[in-house]
Amino acid sequence: MCNEHLGAITGTASGTPLNAPGKALNRRLFLGGTAAAAVGGLSLLGAGPAAAATSQNGWPASTSLPLSTLTVGAVTFPQGVRTGAPHTILGYVARRFNNEVETLRKGECWGYNFRKISGSTSYSNHASGTAIDVNAPEHFLGASGTFSAAQVRAIRSILSACDGVVRWGGDYSGRKDEMHFELVKGPADPAVAALARKLGGGSSTPPPSPATPTWRVVRRGQHGYFVTALQRLLRQHGRPLTVDGVFGSGTEAQVVAFQKSRGLAPDGIVGANTWTALQVTRKEGSTGHAVFGLQHCASAKGFGTAQDGVFGPKTAAAIVAFQRSRGLAADGVVGPRTWAALVA
Ligand SMILES: [Zn+2]
Repeated sequence: MCNEHLGAITGTASGTPLNAPGKALNRRLFLGGTAAAAVGGLSLLGAGPAAAATSQNGWPASTSLPLSTLTVGAVTFPQGVRTGAPHTILGYVARRFNNEVETLRKGECWGYNFRKISGSTSYSNHASGTAIDVNAPEHFLGASGTFSAAQVRAIRSILSACDGVVRWGGDYSGRKDEMHFELVKGPADPAVAALARKLGGGSSTPPPSPATPTWRVVRRGQHGYFVTALQRLLRQHGRPLTVDGVFGSGTEAQVVAFQKSRGLAPDGIVGANTWTALQVTRKEGSTGHAVFGLQHCASAKGFGTAQDGVFGPKTAAAIVAFQRSRGLAADGVVGPRTWAALVA
């Protein structure tokens, strides 16, 4: 376990030698105090998602993150890591570590762990699901030189492939944390999404929204959550059809009818103009087909919520978390930008 875990579990606190600006306070606190005083400053929190906290690297930290299971070789990282780009990137790091540096061992690796250091606003990057620890007992906190020169070269190769998005705890300027890998760039940094795309899984975390939403183009023959959303929105506008997530001839006929009713080109293809006409703004207190549709998309993207057509507080919390993850205004209101991101 790395320093952030160690304090919680064994009661031994330590300096957290990150270079991030937000760490300065912690370093002073720890380096200037006794171990006992530092232990007193550490606590496990049960704070809810309402707090708009972020970890050191700028990612939202809370007890209700969208987490995805991360399994590499024999190891499933406890509690997983953050869904989307962090999962893609940390998964890449873990897989290459397992293949090229050292086989991952069961019970020696960690992912998400919600922790805050009391008295500061700083959360561990584990608290945002954007850090992992690998083979902790062999590469324990404070130790340096736990990897051979060949292993360090392999680690450098992995880091190099990550384009500056990932930092290794062995590179901390102060106390080393050689078990630890983390994202060093925040959710709005385009480098994160670019890396995730390069590694093959970044489509779920696009860069911050452009001036106008970019809508997925949907047509006959496709199926999936975005077709379900389309069908729900058609139902919302009174169009009779079965909601089955499959874009067949019946759905196409209803799209054409809707397009004609709005003076749009009746081509049966749902692009920006048709989506813009179909989408309806929904917020807490709303009910109906459109709410079913947005709940379905949010769940499909890892922001789980009941799919009951009722926009309650849990749906609002899921939407806020989704909006934050996509760099959208986190107001819990589903308007054009959020709809575009939900069906993306
Ligand atoms: Zn760690």
